[in-house]
Amino acid sequence: MLISTSACAQGPQKPNTNSPVMQDKNNPHYNSTNKEPLVLPDSVWKQVLSPEVYQVARQKGTERPFTSPFENSKEVGTYHCVACGNALFQSNAKFESGCGWPSFFEPITKSALIYTPDNTHGMTRTEVQCGKCKAHLGHVFEDGPPPTGLRYCINGVVLAIEKK
Ligand SMILES: [Zn+2]
Repeated sequence: MLISTSACAQGPQKPNTNSPVMQDKNNPHYNSTNKEPLVLPDSVWKQVLSPEVYQVARQKGTERPFTSPFENSKEVGTYHCVACGNALFQSNAKFESGCGWPSFFEPITKSALIYTPDNTHGMTRTEVQCGKCKAHLGHVFEDGPPPTGLRYCINGVVLAIEKK
């Protein structure tokens, strides 16, 4: 079920520093070739992820809108989960939604993402998580452009681009 009226409605907001554009060099679990599920204790994630990434990826936080360098980026490449390296979106599926977060109309593969109903904050939304490490990425809404009509509204802080 995908029911949504509002744009990327956000949860509690915290001040945000600039998002890391490439993966955190302190994260030894970033691996874009291994597709096996990655399950780590929260304490390990807290050590290897930056506080900004940890807050979004593991605590389902939301970065402040219009803060991600990826929002209007035209870089060509593949967007990966910054926590584990899983490929998530191709840059050619990215579009300018104006909602304040990087937006895509389709994932790179169906299994790249996990979909979960999210009824928090008085809204009915569908959360999207990384299919490999279950990092919280953002939400998907049914007000996107053709060909899918979907808008994957993703926190830029949890993305890392590998350029072509
Ligand atoms: Zn991941």
